[in-house]
Amino acid sequence: MESSSEKDPMESVLSSSSFEKDRHVKFLQMMYQVLPYNYQTHEINRLTLAYFVISGLDLLASLHSIDKDAVAEWVLSFQAHPSDEAQLNNGQFYGFSGSRTSQFPPDDNGVLVHNGSHLASTYCALAILKIIGYNFSKIDSVTILTSMKNLQQPDGSFMPIHTGAERDLRFIYCAAAICSLLKNWSGMDKEKAKEYILSCQSYDGGFGLIPGSESHGGATYCAVASLQLMGFIEDDIISKNWSSCIINVPLLLDWSLQRQASDGGFQGRANKDSDTCYAFWIGAVLRILGGHKFIEQKSLRGFLLTCQSEYGGFSKFPGMLPDLYHSYYGFTAFSLLEESGLNPLCVELGISDIATSEI
Ligand SMILES: [Zn+2]
Repeated sequence: MESSSEKDPMESVLSSSSFEKDRHVKFLQMMYQVLPYNYQTHEINRLTLAYFVISGLDLLASLHSIDKDAVAEWVLSFQAHPSDEAQLNNGQFYGFSGSRTSQFPPDDNGVLVHNGSHLASTYCALAILKIIGYNFSKIDSVTILTSMKNLQQPDGSFMPIHTGAERDLRFIYCAAAICSLLKNWSGMDKEKAKEYILSCQSYDGGFGLIPGSESHGGATYCAVASLQLMGFIEDDIISKNWSSCIINVPLLLDWSLQRQASDGGFQGRANKDSDTCYAFWIGAVLRILGGHKFIEQKSLRGFLLTCQSEYGGFSKFPGMLPDLYHSYYGFTAFSLLEESGLNPLCVELGISDIATSEI
């Protein structure tokens, strides 16, 4: 081992021991202008990528650098509209498409034949509009919510798109977040959704994406955040009467805390490598439960800094090139660690606290 006095001066620049906020802001501003060609294959998820950029700038308290009117106009251009009342009741979902490639114009009779509205894109669209302070009374929430009911299945789960696809906890979370953002729960049967979520808690305390599947950090976040948004579990439940809680709280707390590995980072499942994004997925679960105080914060911070890129942003694993997804969850993780200069996070909605407060 070299002593610190013998270190190459460049090395300290490359492996910084502090959160490089200015570099991260520049990284996101660059992505706001133009996405690198590597994202071509993610074209269909353009709204999701925009959510990472805009919500990221908001968490870094740097939202002033974007043109909010232009962003609102762009986001709203992805919304699908039924031509009339009859079309609204045709079983389709009228939300937001993820990008132009999944958006088709109505035919000569004004009928939308190919409607690519997707729950995840709709969540991202509404999250962006909330962050930039768009007036939600101007959004036709009745259309979104009435048609969203078509996606809920008899077992309580949701399909993400009306043509059918995989059904799991991710889309219950999107539906719950959409209802919460629109402050209207008429779009889903909460009781049925709750029953589905409860059937996904595994013997070890974590949640799998579907009943009987292996516990996973992302699925566990979707389960716990949805239950919190729907009002079925309280914040900071471990300091209250958790014995009457509808989920097994001690097992879930144990499972979540065991995901912090010896290198300080969080893994998504047992026996997997630590990965930047799980500092959010599991960290957010612990924050909702009130168990965040049991995290080894210093070692988590240390792990995350090994994933901080010299170009700004964060990578999945130490020393790799950054990507938008892991950058965003790196920022949320540092917000949870209460890094100065970052806005606090509304963990259950995945956006800043300020964005969720009324103007
Ligand atoms: Zn990851």
